[in-house]
Amino acid sequence: MIRCTRCNRKLKAPTASGMGETCERYVLGPRPKRQAAQAKPARASRDDATPDLFAPNVFPWVLAA
Ligand SMILES: [Zn+2]
Repeated sequence: MIRCTRCNRKLKAPTASGMGETCERYVLGPRPKRQAAQAKPARASRDDATPDLFAPNVFPWVLAA
């Protein structure tokens, strides 16, 4: 019979820490959140090289149509 080393409760299966799930979480803190598999792309930011689509008189042919 495996027992939790902290609270002595019966454990269904041995754990790496020797503690039950609840005590493990209590001692070690909540599990770190899973990281996204892919890094999030950087937020779009304003740059002067790209013309502003909504600025007046940038695309006069659009208005001419
Ligand atoms: Zn315990």
